[in-house]
Amino acid sequence: MNRLIPMKKEQILWIAASAVGLLGTAAAGLAGVASLPAPVAGVSLAAAWVSIAVTLGMLIRHLARLKAMTQVFRVGAQMKIPFDSRRDSVLGEIAVAAEQFLDETHQKVRQMQDENRDLGLQVQLLRRRKSSIEAILNSIQDAVLVTDDRDRVLLANTAAESLFGFKFDKDNPCLVHDAVSWRELIRLIGKSRQSRTPHVRHELTFPQKDGPITFNTVLSCVLDDFGNVLQVVAVLHDVTREKEISQMKNDFVSHVSHELKTPLASINAYAEMLVDGEAQDAETTRQFCSVIQGQAQRLGRLIEDILNISRIESGLIKVSRQTHSLALVIRDAVQMIMSYAQEKNIAIHAPASILYDQVSIDRDMISQVIINLLSNAVKYTPAGGQITINSELNEVEGTVCVTVADTGVGIPEKDIAHIFDKFYRVEANNKYAKGTGLGLNLVKQIVETVHGGSVFVTSTPGQGSTFGFVLPLSKERAVQMVS
Ligand code: ADP
Repeated sequence: MNRLIPMKKEQILWIAASAVGLLGTAAAGLAGVASLPAPVAGVSLAAAWVSIAVTLGMLIRHLARLKAMTQVFRVGAQMKIPFDSRRDSVLGEIAVAAEQFLDETHQKVRQMQDENRDLGLQVQLLRRRKSSIEAILNSIQDAVLVTDDRDRVLLANTAAESLFGFKFDKDNPCLVHDAVSWRELIRLIGKSRQSRTPHVRHELTFPQKDGPITFNTVLSCVLDDFGNVLQVVAVLHDVTREKEISQMKNDFVSHVSHELKTPLASINAYAEMLVDGEAQDAETTRQFCSVIQGQAQRLGRLIEDILNISRIESGLIKVSRQTHSLALVIRDAVQMIMSYAQEKNIAIHAPASILYDQVSIDRDMISQVIINLLSNAVKYTPAGGQITINSELNEVEGTVCVTVADTGVGIPEKDIAHIFDKFYRVEANNKYAKGTGLGLNLVKQIVETVHGGSVFVTSTPGQGSTFGFVLPLSKERAVQMVS
């Protein structure tokens, strides 16, 4: 027994030291996460989770060993050796030594019980931290997948489960090949493990039912003290929307440059002819100047529309909202467009205004919407046609709906879905009027982005179109309705 005790003491010290060391590592990992940038934080959280899981496993094993040793000591401490020191002095000495040994053993038992309790508390703390990290990992939108050196899935958060379409079971880890069908991701996980690179970033595109999704994927290796790869952590951040926006920006810039070039080229050509003296009489000079003026105006409208749209999109436009009667805004817009309609012999019907159509709007912007819809109706309706503008109140939904219906050329069905897109022009209707293809996009931006309403269109080619928008009634009006 004498040889056994020092050996166990060393073990106890080793256990205590390694437990403290491991706890320190896990805690330091956790503390570091807060200061990291968002994409790396996902990786670090998963790494902290892995570190805690490993620590917990070791601590639980140490605790079991400590309990067993405490038991051995306790039995030793309870041993009593009966003796009479007066009768047998040698036996008495042995008995005193044995008593001392038993006292020391008692102390060790108490010490080990204390350590046992401390370790138990630390295990509880680690368990709580582990489940709190699991909760955090499950709450983030990026998919997180942790695999071990045998290609088993050690952790998959909720986003990863729904992305890859499998249910993660921590008590029965499955193979990554069974959980994930994306071969490219599995290949990169294997490559990352072989290369032992701490962090590698890849842009991966995967086909999905609703179209391809692009992920900014970070693969990180968790290494042990000897540089062996314990786990590979994969964090997938969906960048599909960002990619689309960047593509849209590029398309927009190339469209704008193209649209600006056309009138500029025309202005340049006619100005050159004037400079070269090609206009030999007053009438030709007037014609050339009129083309230049027309193209300059088109350029002005184009620039104005582009600026308005981009100001709305970037949220930089100053919106001045007040409560107005929509009927009055419609009346003024109809008056502005009337002479243009009369020139083409088109009749505009504007039924009597409805009551209580108060809306909280930027008056100039909504006027612009109505004028754009009315002028399009005039542009794309042959002479002798009819235009009817109407507004209808929906008291139940608290909205007002404005419609502009014409008896014009209509819009083919294939174009309807794109009609509110920037620079979209219906090819079949190009011969009826010139335009920029920005008017309807501006209408949509003003109604939907600025006023929280919605736009719509219905059309039958050869019979006419109905464009319209819905706006929420003013809150003040809603109060009046309730009372
Ligand atoms: P544009 O300056 O070309 O008129 P818009 O954005 O206002 O630009 O309209 C986009 C396209 O939608 C037009 O080119 C036209 O072909 C079609 N369109 C708009 N309004 C009507 C309408 N009332 N009837 C038929 N086609 C229309």
